Amino acid sequence: VTVSHILVVGAGPAGVRAAETLAAAGLRPLVVDEGLRAGGQIYRRPPAGFTRPANQLYGFEAARAAAVHAAFDALEGRIDYWPQSLVWNLEAGVATVLREGRHHRVPFEAAILATGAMDRVIPFPGWTTPGIFTLGGAQVALKFQGCGIGRRVVFLGTGPLLYLVAWQYAKAGAEVAAVLDSAPAGAKTKAALRLAARPAMLAKGLYYLARLKARGVRLESGVEPLRVEGGERVAALVYRAGGRERRIDCDAVGFGYGLKSETQLADLAEVPFDFDPLDRLWLPRHDAAGRTPVPGIYLAGDGAGILGADAAEVAGELAARALLQDRGDGGQADRMAALGGRLARFRRFREGLERAFPFPAQLAAGLPDELPLCRCEAVTVGELRRAATAKDAAEINRAKAFTRVGMGRCQGRVCGPAAAEVLAAALGRPVVAVGRLRGQAPVKPVPVAPPAEEPLREAS
Ligand SMILES: Cc1cc2nc3c(=O)[nH]c(=O)nc-3n(C[C@H](O)[C@H](O)[C@H](O)COP(=O)(O)OP(=O)(O)OC[C@H]3O[C@@H](n4cnc5c(N)ncnc54)[C@H](O)[C@@H]3O)c2cc1C
Repeated sequence: VTVSHILVVGAGPAGVRAAETLAAAGLRPLVVDEGLRAGGQIYRRPPAGFTRPANQLYGFEAARAAAVHAAFDALEGRIDYWPQSLVWNLEAGVATVLREGRHHRVPFEAAILATGAMDRVIPFPGWTTPGIFTLGGAQVALKFQGCGIGRRVVFLGTGPLLYLVAWQYAKAGAEVAAVLDSAPAGAKTKAALRLAARPAMLAKGLYYLARLKARGVRLESGVEPLRVEGGERVAALVYRAGGRERRIDCDAVGFGYGLKSETQLADLAEVPFDFDPLDRLWLPRHDAAGRTPVPGIYLAGDGAGILGADAAEVAGELAARALLQDRGDGGQADRMAALGGRLARFRRFREGLERAFPFPAQLAAGLPDELPLCRCEAVTVGELRRAATAKDAAEINRAKAFTRVGMGRCQGRVCGPAAAEVLAAALGRPVVAVGRLRGQAPVKPVPVAPPAEEPLREAS
């Protein structure tokens, strides 16, 4: 097997544009992606043989999806591409990749990490009942397999994805029982000025809202989820809004409070992290072009901070140009300055989104003690609170050592942000003070008894 010296992790919009830019400069990067086909989250392609038209799959984004897919397909023969391959470790110039059941050590000179994002959740009573999915999971089911998560679905949480997924379900024929937003009524009006930085995007959001309203879907703001009813399957959701408790029948719930960057590989590569008040999370340090303080490690797209798909394309090209510049390939500066300017506008829009759909960190303080927080290790909210107070676990990794929170299969990718909020609330400290869960390899589950490693030759 020939190994490239340049590795791109992720074939979403950021990874695709990074690979395209590198290939245009005469390099032959190796693109590794877990997915079956390139496209990433938003432009996820269904398996071969599925025949839904692009506008049904991607709505307003059909043209962009087609452009990103075409750009990647046109790279065939000029890049190496490993689909369905997981980069599960990355250190000192070597990535470890699980591909076709074997583990490969892939040496690299430089790597662009374009690993994207995942849902950010705060648990609520009953959240482990069958029939509850994250918003992203609900969307993946629809986009990838053409399946819904239920027939009468409640969507709960906050963020643009809440309304988008609800609309996609309504359009696909599901009954949307309600869209319940934790953001207070009026938050969106206050954010209007910043949201106007991207008028077309704002218009799309208003369109989804108007279409849901026109269908008579119940839309509520300032919602606090109280509990799910039902044993073997969700039967109803009980919530509080406007000071009143309400109950709504449903057979599925899609929920989530925005997205969080997938940062574990940057962590394993020893990139330093800083607390980002906008994301309320720790993010790997990088400059405006995606360079990290670790030589040869670059970041692009939502994996470096949530800015959305259009920004990811810009950031992918920008990181690739930074890499080329660092290899002595001059002539990048003008284009890089233009791309950097575009990214700044995306950031302003993102600030607007955060005002319109603030992360409801305050929910953490009111969660009941008996609520499962870390599903993998069955750790409750109360156990974490007791560790904080009785065992002086004032830092999240210490709390992890005492309770096993974040130590299971998901490595804290699901429970991590909520655990930090619960710990901070229990200690009466700001969330920045409890630190962040350090990443550990393997970043995602791998088989326990792998076949022997196959060392790879470097390209000559
Ligand atoms: C579930 C979900 C649904 C979304 N839906 C929408 C939507 O409908 N509309 C919208 O505007 N935005 C949506 N977003 C946001 C949007 O997907 C992102 O803004 C955009 O895709 C970012 O592009 P990216 O290239 O940075 O990352 P992504 O598109 O997420 O691509 C990252 C890629 O990296 C791969 N990857 C990650 N880690 C590894 C690893 N360790 N090894 C190998 N491969 C890896 C993943 O398989 C993925 O293909 C969604 C996000 C999520 C998480």
